[in-house]
Amino acid sequence: MTQRDPQLLLRMRMRAEQDIFVVRQLAREVARLVGLELQDQTRLATALSEVARLMLVGGTYADVSFTASTVQVPTLRVRMENSVPGGEARLGSQLGVVGRLVDRMEVGDGDTGTVVLMSRRLPSSAPALTPDRMEDIRAGLAAHVPGTPLDELGVQNQQLIAALEEVRAQRDDLARLNAELEETNRGVMALYHQLTDEMEETNRGVVALYAELDEKSVQLRAASEAKSRFLANVSHELRAPVTAIIGLGRLLTDSSSDKLTEDQGRQVELIRGSASDLLSLVNDLLDLAKAEAGKIEPNLTEVDLKVVFGQLRGTLRPLVTRPEVEFIVDEPEVGPVRSDEVLLAQVLRNLLTNAIKFTPAGSVRLSARRVDDDIELSVRDTGTGIPPELHERIFEEFYQVPGSHPLSGTGTGLGLPYARRLMTILGGALRVSSSSGEGSTFTVRLPAAPS
Ligand code: ADP
Repeated sequence: MTQRDPQLLLRMRMRAEQDIFVVRQLAREVARLVGLELQDQTRLATALSEVARLMLVGGTYADVSFTASTVQVPTLRVRMENSVPGGEARLGSQLGVVGRLVDRMEVGDGDTGTVVLMSRRLPSSAPALTPDRMEDIRAGLAAHVPGTPLDELGVQNQQLIAALEEVRAQRDDLARLNAELEETNRGVMALYHQLTDEMEETNRGVVALYAELDEKSVQLRAASEAKSRFLANVSHELRAPVTAIIGLGRLLTDSSSDKLTEDQGRQVELIRGSASDLLSLVNDLLDLAKAEAGKIEPNLTEVDLKVVFGQLRGTLRPLVTRPEVEFIVDEPEVGPVRSDEVLLAQVLRNLLTNAIKFTPAGSVRLSARRVDDDIELSVRDTGTGIPPELHERIFEEFYQVPGSHPLSGTGTGLGLPYARRLMTILGGALRVSSSSGEGSTFTVRLPAAPS
């Protein structure tokens, strides 16, 4: 007795054309029994009947066997072999479309003739192919009575109608989807147009805004120039009468003039003091107006800091009248800077005068150091300091820190704006770092003179 292949479900031999119907019916039955879905049953049956038809051409028989493999993925396999060798090329080209009805289709040469192998994976819903189940399937197939070709034609017609129905339903679905897509496209286009319109509108707004801004900045420049011109003229005009008042006051209190009463003397001194304050304000205003009007042309040369520091040491030391304050001007150990000696000395003088004015005790120190290609000059004091939120405001014209009182003299609030303006003209920068009660450091940065 020969050992039976445990995976074999059915084997049969086709001899005549009507056997094609039998193969078709059996294929559908096998497919149903192993658990393939209705559509897949039809696919397999159609594939097999087409292959069977081609295999019988020019031959006398073809053997068909159905096996179910449970190794890894459960799969139904069909093997067909005929008596005509070398049909590989002919069948290969004819089976292209049929091959799509199953998962795999291979054509090759067998022992007696041409072999076609087909396989179709079983769905996960299919019942497990246990040996008992395999036995049941075999028994079911053995008991299967093939119908007549007419019966088969009826079944085929039914399947064709179902397939056509499905195609129609799919076409309707497709038409509906297309309509939806068109609708969506129209929506997207409308949105796109709306966005484009809005963007254009915004762009127009931005352009108009820029034009307005340009116009405003022209107006602002004109206003600033007018202000500088006005300040320059007024201060220039004021200088002569104020100087005259100071001169007259000096004359009145001169020992060669008629003696004034004590009261008169005090009043004339008050007039002279006020006139002096006014003159320094007028002078500051005139300086600032000139700087802003671009009337100051710096004379850029190699400036020896030793000379500048020496002059400042000499002229400012007399202003330090409090013994609690140490006035230190370091020897500059850096090379020369490229700058205007007079303007630079003026900036440092302003910074040092401020430091002396706002330092009740401790020290005021001027020093220099090299930072990369620049030279940094700093005026550091241990005075009252300036709150950080006012660091920019002190560079505004006439601004004075509320509650800050100079220890000597008065202020105009024009020294720092003027110093910063001069530094810009000199191609440098003026910065402050300070906080209340911690003292202040004003730093001037200038390019070092090329060696
Ligand atoms: P002013 O003529 O009043 O000194 P500035 O423009 O030079 O005008 O300074 C503006 C204000 O900044 C001063 O009134 C003072 O309140 C503050 N300030 C400037 N330098 C110092 C400093 N070294 N320490 C403390 N406060 C300072």
